[in-house]
Amino acid sequence: MVHSQRGHRNSARLDKSALANLRHGLRGDVICPEDAGYDAARRVFNHMIDRYPAAILSCADDDDVSRSIDFAYLNELPIAVRGGGHSAAGHSTCDGGIVIDLSPMKRVEVDPTNRIARAGAGLTLGELDQVTQQHGLATPLGIASITGIAGLTLGGGVGWLNGKHGLTCDNVVSFKIVTADGRKLQAGPGENAELYWALRGGGGNFGVVTSFEYRLHRVGPVYGGMVIHPLDRARDVLRFYREFAASSPDELSTLASLGTSPDGDPIIVVSSCYSGPIEDGERLLKPLREFGRPLLDGVGLQEYVELQNMKDGGFPHGNQHYWKSGFLYEISDDAIEVLIDSARTRPSPLTGIGLQHVHGAAARVDPEATAFAHRNEYFDCPALTQWRDPAEAEPNIQWARDHWNAMKQHFGQGIYVNNLGEDGVDQVQAAYGANYHRLAQIKSRYDPENLFRLNQNIEPAPAG
Ligand SMILES: Cc1cc2nc3c(=O)[nH]c(=O)nc-3n(C[C@H](O)[C@H](O)[C@H](O)COP(=O)(O)OP(=O)(O)OC[C@H]3O[C@@H](n4cnc5c(N)ncnc54)[C@H](O)[C@@H]3O)c2cc1C
Repeated sequence: MVHSQRGHRNSARLDKSALANLRHGLRGDVICPEDAGYDAARRVFNHMIDRYPAAILSCADDDDVSRSIDFAYLNELPIAVRGGGHSAAGHSTCDGGIVIDLSPMKRVEVDPTNRIARAGAGLTLGELDQVTQQHGLATPLGIASITGIAGLTLGGGVGWLNGKHGLTCDNVVSFKIVTADGRKLQAGPGENAELYWALRGGGGNFGVVTSFEYRLHRVGPVYGGMVIHPLDRARDVLRFYREFAASSPDELSTLASLGTSPDGDPIIVVSSCYSGPIEDGERLLKPLREFGRPLLDGVGLQEYVELQNMKDGGFPHGNQHYWKSGFLYEISDDAIEVLIDSARTRPSPLTGIGLQHVHGAAARVDPEATAFAHRNEYFDCPALTQWRDPAEAEPNIQWARDHWNAMKQHFGQGIYVNNLGEDGVDQVQAAYGANYHRLAQIKSRYDPENLFRLNQNIEPAPAG
């Protein structure tokens, strides 16, 4: 059904007979509180988020998505959209509304000749990499293979190929999307071009994307891995790292992180991925491998998917998460002291602080060319606060806030929308930066009633 006009929405209630009809009409499943599997289906990656949707609509295709949007609209139910369910803020679930769950939509078609992949919105990074790597190809994604491609792409997507090939969103050729009025649209440079612009960094504000068409590049094997030092040497390692990263060519992307070893020791890790000729990688990474006396040097030639899995162990299923972050334009000596102090006082050994280098191709895009506005060289610096026992929430959240308050003076303008946590509402405008107002105009065209508002929300610009 395509709606020419949407009525006023003010309350949430669930019509059981309408739900029964929906069950018949969907190719996918409808999971309600009384159904077996509801408890598993309602959960998202961040177990601090504990919500009870009225129904989870597990969509198998674009028609299912369109019907689900209609159902929610007509029954005045809030909509949460779930790709991989990894939003730290917990936006892919809700209380009392419906979850449009795209996880069954995992189709991938690769055209190796034209180096294009069409990928379903329910894929994880690892699932997409596995298929594209069978052709020796990849599109730039993030650094944890368990994350969903959908939320990552719509918010930007920073990973090991950002210096060479840009952000994930820079590599989207077109999107298939179902908008608030139930229409199924394609958005690309020659079709719905404003929507195409907005979807590359504007988050889940404009509808439900059902598939992404990505540009692929020849990638792998790559030269990289982790070099690990004790946290006691973090001062020297970070001072070295800032010079090392600043002199890295586009092909070499790096990440420094302060965390804990599998044996429970506090450590600092510099991880790298060089995606050019191997002999150049060996030469370029030599200074990093030879600096200080690392506890472990895991740098070497690796399959690209191996490198993409390298960080997964740090994010086991079932943990509680609370994120605070900012952009460091300079790793000053003073900022280093704050980082070390915070790493030493972390209440949970599972918590880590990252400094992910955004540079090269990702930094050279015109800030107005896509919705993702932050196009300079910087270090994306999230504190990924993580713990297991819900009773430990308070000291961990307090630590993250104290850390962020101490770092605030060192952070520059902007923040990565995909790093915003539960209390990031005040920073949403900063996350969309100078592109916020254009995004609000586009929002008013495609979702004037803000049907898709359980996200890092852009309010529709007032008419006129
Ligand atoms: C362990 C871990 C590692 C990470 N590493 C990186 C990294 O290296 N680089 C990086 O850039 N980010 C990284 N992130 C952040 C990641 O980009 C976000 O968590 C992202 O939201 C994950 O996407 P998702 O589909 O799993 O999320 P979801 O929780 O499903 O969705 C996130 C948001 O996008 C919306 N959304 C999801 N799917 C759709 C869709 N199909 N159409 C419309 N809206 C949709 C949701 O409504 C929600 O608002 C990481 C996150 C985690 C948890």
